[in-house]
Amino acid sequence: MGADRMGKKHEKVAVTAGCGKDSLGAVGVAGVAGVAGATAGCGKDSLEVAGATAGCEEDSLGVGGSAVGCEENSLGAVGVAGVAVGCDEDSFEVVGASAGRMEKILEATGVTKEYIMGEVTVRALRGVSFDLYDGEFVVVLGPSGSGKSTMLNIIGGIDRPTAGSVMFGGKDLSNASERALTAYRRTAVGFVFQFYNLIPNLTARENIVLATELSHDPISPDELLKNVGLGERGSHFPPQLSGGEQQRVAIARAVGKNPALLLCDEPTGALDIQTGVQVLRILKDFNKQYKKTVVIITHNSGIGGMGDRVFNIRDGLIDSVVVNDAPIQPEEVNW
Ligand code: ADP
Repeated sequence: MGADRMGKKHEKVAVTAGCGKDSLGAVGVAGVAGVAGATAGCGKDSLEVAGATAGCEEDSLGVGGSAVGCEENSLGAVGVAGVAVGCDEDSFEVVGASAGRMEKILEATGVTKEYIMGEVTVRALRGVSFDLYDGEFVVVLGPSGSGKSTMLNIIGGIDRPTAGSVMFGGKDLSNASERALTAYRRTAVGFVFQFYNLIPNLTARENIVLATELSHDPISPDELLKNVGLGERGSHFPPQLSGGEQQRVAIARAVGKNPALLLCDEPTGALDIQTGVQVLRILKDFNKQYKKTVVIITHNSGIGGMGDRVFNIRDGLIDSVVVNDAPIQPEEVNW
């Protein structure tokens, strides 16, 4: 048993029996589930976020409570009320936490990213290590060019590190197959960008449906529209909405597929203060309501006060990690 940065104790819970080669039967926090249901016989490269994962095939990521009978390279991983049984040899990873404790969902170790530009090598990340926990709200602060977006893109499976590992559900994203990485992006991660990236000739609702249709466990688009205060605007096209409204649709779209991680790159960067506060309020509410891990990168240090933890990045390194015992509300952010 050890203590994480948030001062909460974690323990390895040995509940895996005979897992498959390289498979990971994993994990759980009894009674904190959030996601219900059982997933049996996941296909190759599938990625399941569910209560129980049984019989996963190669390269699949089962993110769920129980992993049963996993095959080679599969990941029955993570989460809630977890018991893994019937997997084969060489398996590893039984990550667990007892009820009421936060569970680690992602672990980055020694991540570097270099871009070679002719004669010049740009070292965007110079060996960063950090964990992300289930349901936490993390703010990544740092000046322009410090490596924030590079870090988010690597966590999100958009980019791969030059060196280091990023473990999610027991699997290393840095050397996952393209198909597994695509499945990870589609199902486990929701992205929110500074400039919304909505499809202009689809309505607000259709933009959300586009994402929810990719998910095995989506949240209702109408519920999402209502929750972002746009219940009456679902039939409107993005150009008919203000910047703040478009960002709210973009958040609904990102959350709609019910991902484990919500990654936001300067989500308030293009908004005025009042609208920015509304957007942060929605992110915070989603974090609480749907128990999503939210990571926001920003150069606005005032937003740091909202984070359960704040990663300060400078020149490709995490300078410090600050734990906020009493995070402030979006309305209290000093812009
Ligand atoms: P931030 O998000 O903090 O502004 P970035 O992660 O975007 O920082 O960039 C970190 C460094 O990596 C910068 O020097 C940037 O110019 C460089 N960089 C980012 N992406 C690329 C790329 N695709 N090619 C070359 N250099 C890049």
